[in-house]
Amino acid sequence: MSYMTGKILAGKRGLIMGVANERSIAWGIAAAAAAQGAELAFSYQMESFGKRVQPLAESVNSNILIECDVAQKGAVERCFHTLSKSWKNIDFVVHALGFSDKNELRGPYLNTSRENFIRTMMISAFSFTETAQSARKMMSNGGALLTLSYIGAQRITPNYNVMGVAKAALESSVRYLAADLGGKNIRVNSLSAGPMKTLAGAAITGARHIYRHSEEAAPLGRNPDIHEVGKSGLYLISDLSSGVTGETHFVDGGFNTVGVPRELKL
Ligand code: NAD
Repeated sequence: MSYMTGKILAGKRGLIMGVANERSIAWGIAAAAAAQGAELAFSYQMESFGKRVQPLAESVNSNILIECDVAQKGAVERCFHTLSKSWKNIDFVVHALGFSDKNELRGPYLNTSRENFIRTMMISAFSFTETAQSARKMMSNGGALLTLSYIGAQRITPNYNVMGVAKAALESSVRYLAADLGGKNIRVNSLSAGPMKTLAGAAITGARHIYRHSEEAAPLGRNPDIHEVGKSGLYLISDLSSGVTGETHFVDGGFNTVGVPRELKL
């Protein structure tokens, strides 16, 4: 896929967290950022992901790859420490990761276990706060932090369950972090993407139903593709959005604006 080339991020450096493969949302944003001149570093969850991330990183001239399993205590801090050996400063971070036990992404939310609630919250929400804690130390010239959310944070979506609760916490953290870091000219936003066919997306029971329903109900009549999420991500991590912070920006073909979906053509 060819991305819009230009210089919007020329001279800027950023860390991309959460690329698993070329369908990952993180990769869509990384590719859009690289096409606009950004220098990138990547963090990946574990060795097996690293092997897949490496050729993608090489394709955008990046040779900084750091293992970072955010479930491990201190891992995020260590990741930024490692990064600081290559770069003194960074301008943006894209946090595009999340996890919940897929056995609890089906059936009633009511059945959520204490263990999975804590784990989901820690990996999918708290890791962004930890990211902000470390990233700000490398953002002496200001910067932008971006995370990924989904409409299940704000409205009921079948089987999204505890992931929706974690995304609600994540969106709320975005607002609190924006207030904490605004004085340092660090902006904090989330991008709420429509359903996409990724590894994480497939973990939710009934993903196909959600995908089709969103597509049919969205004013644009389709879900976004990775290219569109990439372009909006580019806006949020660059000076194009210099006056924007604490926001949840929907990139979902307008799906979130719909009360009653139009009648389907039969
Ligand atoms: P993906 O599977 O490509 O990416 C998810 C990433 O999370 C993977 O790279 C995985 O390694 C990482 N991850 C999971 N546990 C981790 C841990 N302990 N430490 C470090 N990394 C870990 O799927 P995606 O859809 O691109 O997901 C990226 C983000 O976008 C997630 O926050 C997801 O909730 C969000 N999102 C996805 C959709 C969708 O429909 N796919 C829609 C809106 C938002």
